[in-house]
Amino acid sequence: MLRSLIAFLILGLALTAAGGARASGPCHADTGDWNEQGLANAASFYTLEWAPFGAAEWGWETYLPLIQQEIGTDCGPGTPIFATRLAAFQQTYGLPPTGVFDAATFQVFRGVWQERRPFVMARLRQECPEPPPINQLGYLVASEEHADRLTRLLRRDVLDAYRRLAAAARTEVPEAAADPELLQIFSGFRDPEADAARCAQDRNCDGLRRAVCSPHRTGTAVDLYVGQFQGMGVDSTAVASRQHMSRTATYRWLVANAGRFGFVPYVFEPWHWEYVKPWDDTFAP
Ligand SMILES: [Zn+2]
Repeated sequence: MLRSLIAFLILGLALTAAGGARASGPCHADTGDWNEQGLANAASFYTLEWAPFGAAEWGWETYLPLIQQEIGTDCGPGTPIFATRLAAFQQTYGLPPTGVFDAATFQVFRGVWQERRPFVMARLRQECPEPPPINQLGYLVASEEHADRLTRLLRRDVLDAYRRLAAAARTEVPEAAADPELLQIFSGFRDPEADAARCAQDRNCDGLRRAVCSPHRTGTAVDLYVGQFQGMGVDSTAVASRQHMSRTATYRWLVANAGRFGFVPYVFEPWHWEYVKPWDDTFAP
C-alpha cells in the first residue's frame, strides 16, 4: 500500500516536471521519440539517489539552472526538448547520447564547469596562486557588505566588475531590486595567514582546503548572498540549503548573466563566484 502510494506520488511529480499529461508548446515540439526519456528525467529529477560530492543527495534540481544554461534551453527537465539537448551534450563529450540524466553525465558537466576556473586548473598543476599586492585591493562600501561578512576587500578590478553585475541584477531581477541583502558580499579577499589562523582557532578547516589554499586568497572570489533556507547559514552546503538557493530568481539570473561580467560559478556552492579575467582585462574566457 505504502509502496503504491509512493509510486503514485512520484508519477504525479514526474508528470508535473514533464509539463502535464497533455503537454504541448515549444518544449515539446518536433521531438519524435524523446517523450520516454523526458519521463525518465522527470522522475529522476526528484528521486535519483546519488552522491555527486560524497554525501547522499536525492534528485538533481539543485543543478538544473547550470545544466539548462550549458545545454542552451529553458525547457524543464521532463520535456522532450531538454532530453534532446542533453543527448547533444552527451554526444559532444563522448558519452552515449541517451538523453537521460545520470551521475556519469553530471561528472562531465562538473568537469566542464571546473575547467573554466583558472584557480582550479592551477591547483591541478599543484600550484597555489599568490595573493595580489595590497595596493591592488579595494574596500567594499557598507551597502555591499552582508551582515555575515568575513572580509571587506576585493581586487579592485573584480570589485568594479561586481558593481556592474549587481547594478544590472537590480535592474533586471525584481527580487534583487526589492531586497538590498541579495547579492551582498559575505566573503571576498581572505588573507591566507589570517585564514590559516582562524581555521586552527575554530578547529574548522573545511577539510583543510580553506587553510591550505583557498580561492579567496586571490581577491577574485566572491561569496554572494543568494538567500538562505530556514535558519541555515548563508553558506550552508546542506542539500536543502543549496536546493533553496538554486530556486531563487537571483541565482538563476547569475547563472545566465554573471559571465557577461567575467564571473564563473562553482557548482557545489551557489553563492561562490570567481572572476576569471586577468588584471589587464584582455583575456575573454
Ligand atoms: Zn567562497
